[in-house]
Amino acid sequence: MHNVIIIGSGCAGLTAAIYAARADLKPLVIDGHEPGGQLGLTTMVENFPGFPDGILGPDLIEHMRKQAQRFGAEFKAGAVTEVDLSRRPFTITGGKETYTARALIVAAGASARMLGLESERKLLGYGVSSCATCDGFFFRGKEIAVVGGGDTAMEEATFLSKFASRIHLIHRRNEFRASKIMLDRARSNEKIRFVTPAVIEEILDVSKGAVEAVKLRNPETNEASVLPVHGVFVAIGHEPNTKIFRNKLEMDANGYLIVKHGSLSNVPGVFVAGDVLDHRYRQAVTAAGSGCMAAMDAEKFLAEHKG
Ligand code: NAP
Repeated sequence: MHNVIIIGSGCAGLTAAIYAARADLKPLVIDGHEPGGQLGLTTMVENFPGFPDGILGPDLIEHMRKQAQRFGAEFKAGAVTEVDLSRRPFTITGGKETYTARALIVAAGASARMLGLESERKLLGYGVSSCATCDGFFFRGKEIAVVGGGDTAMEEATFLSKFASRIHLIHRRNEFRASKIMLDRARSNEKIRFVTPAVIEEILDVSKGAVEAVKLRNPETNEASVLPVHGVFVAIGHEPNTKIFRNKLEMDANGYLIVKHGSLSNVPGVFVAGDVLDHRYRQAVTAAGSGCMAAMDAEKFLAEHKG
């Protein structure tokens, strides 16, 4: 029986682990599908306080993990497949393993959203990617497309300009959600060409098992066109990882968990932290703060509910 199980090993989960471990709760962290969360997939982080020259996302995550381990946090690879929150201790199943915990911290994060095209699914890993950091290197000297109009799309396009010969930034509207600084940075990059408004209708060519072009449509004029590219990076936001909590934890229409007083879910003893509850800020530093709150709330709950 564990005092606290933490689901997720991104910034929120690891901060919760540091706090819970320092409170001598010996937390168990279950890594999840994407160990390290979104920071593990990013490049330079310039806005996390304390790093005047910036720090690479994967390095920041590795530091946090070591910090949690130093105080006794334990880690398990793999993802949670089922939870029983109907009684305490809670039962958490991950593949063939079953764990019990007196308190639970859900820091399962949010995963990259995809366009939903059949060709996108079939070509994922064969020229279609949702992670510039992971796959940018493969597109050295090639022409590629980045889809999206938020900060992620701007960041990915700017990062990919180190490798690609030309980047077509495809966005369905002429207005952008991206912050001005990120948009200006992408706009001033001579390798990045903005293609708006444009919707990707198909990625070609599934029969060849490789990306050769995208079929575009202008949603205002309905004009169709074909743009030859060797890669497509999908950067259109994220989905909260909350499927296993459906009908168990309160969530909004988009699947983000709902909390009261910082981290309290509707089930006593279950606390929530990070992007799994936050579609507004979604920053490393806010996720870290939220992880801290969840661990402190869990500690208080355990002190009040002994046994
Ligand atoms: P986002 O702000 O939600 O933007 C998603 C973009 O994808 C929007 O432009 C949206 O278009 C487009 N989109 C969504 N679904 C689509 C679909 N099916 N087909 C085509 N386009 C689609 O997501 P994000 O860029 O991932 O950013 C999320 C949060 O993280 C933001 O708060 C952002 O500031 C933050 N962030 C910060 C940094 C940084 O500071 N370094 C880096 C990355 C992200 P519409 O606009 O038309 O809806």
